[in-house]
Amino acid sequence: RMKAKWATSQPKFPSTSLALQNFDMVYGTQLGDLWPSVRVSMLSEQKYGALINNFSEAAEVMEELQLQGALDFVYNGMVKSRFKPARPHNSGTLGYYLMDAASLLPVLALDVQEGHTVLDLCAAPGGKTLALLQTQAIGHLAVNDFSASRTSRLRRVLQSYVPREYWSEDTVQITSCDGRKFGELERDTFDRVLVDVPCTTDRHSLLEEDNNIFKKTRMKERQKLPLLQAQLLVAGLEAARPGGEVVYSTCTLSQLQNEYVVEQALHVAQEAGITAHVQDLRAFARLFAATFHFAPNPRLGELVLPHLTANFGPIYFCKLRRTS
Ligand code: SAM
Repeated sequence: RMKAKWATSQPKFPSTSLALQNFDMVYGTQLGDLWPSVRVSMLSEQKYGALINNFSEAAEVMEELQLQGALDFVYNGMVKSRFKPARPHNSGTLGYYLMDAASLLPVLALDVQEGHTVLDLCAAPGGKTLALLQTQAIGHLAVNDFSASRTSRLRRVLQSYVPREYWSEDTVQITSCDGRKFGELERDTFDRVLVDVPCTTDRHSLLEEDNNIFKKTRMKERQKLPLLQAQLLVAGLEAARPGGEVVYSTCTLSQLQNEYVVEQALHVAQEAGITAHVQDLRAFARLFAATFHFAPNPRLGELVLPHLTANFGPIYFCKLRRTS
């Protein structure tokens, strides 16, 4: 009896297999000869980076991680080890946040300067928010995520990593509304906007059944992603001030969710009277070429391809400057 129940509760087509089938078809064509190597990397264990928390005993944490084989990739190294989850130091603040090291690149590309007003439009669970706050340069940070439960998670992340005095009500404002509304709510406001959109989260979709967007019941939601992404990017462009800069980012290889979304959003924004131009990130990518495997000859933006010797990503990011 138990066996029959077990048999019926197994999905006939696991979402992870559906994801792999889809990727074989789409990325096989899109990436050509590169696909087999990217495929095997995405199915293998991913590498992590540790974002050192400057609000903790950072020097001590750095030493601890170096003993585990970590190198500071922002300068010239590569993060090498598997790290244990961070433990609180004496102050109670956690020493580091584990994330895909490549997901730091969109934040670095945003190039936040002293006193900037910054919007993090789709912010939860907060890895990039935390990285933004590490700069200790931001004048005002607006943090938003549509999902109330994920916004609560983000608050818990901030509580664990950033002392309260660094995110008082007037410096960090946390909201939970539809990011597509930000164009109307906060038009022409921010020096910098990060639009880190929901996507097919390719690595997760290949490895985890839980919350998998390739589940048959989520097909419509998946098909609507490029539209939602473009609307969020348009809202981000509207919320930036003329002269301000916007970084669009995803963790998918899909051109439909990457380059095409950027093109579509530029087109829609133009019709609404907003002009923006894609910024050349080639020099930026060269700075990190020893650590990450960038896709050759990208058409718009930069794409970090998973590789067995540098198993980070996929992360796509594209920088836009609003001119009017
Ligand atoms: N930036 C986050 C980080 O680094 O930890 C990851 C963001 S995740 C890729 C995308 C987020 O977009 C999800 O938390 C999801 O709840 C949020 N989201 C989905 N639809 C949204 C919308 N219409 N407006 C704002 N946020 C939305």
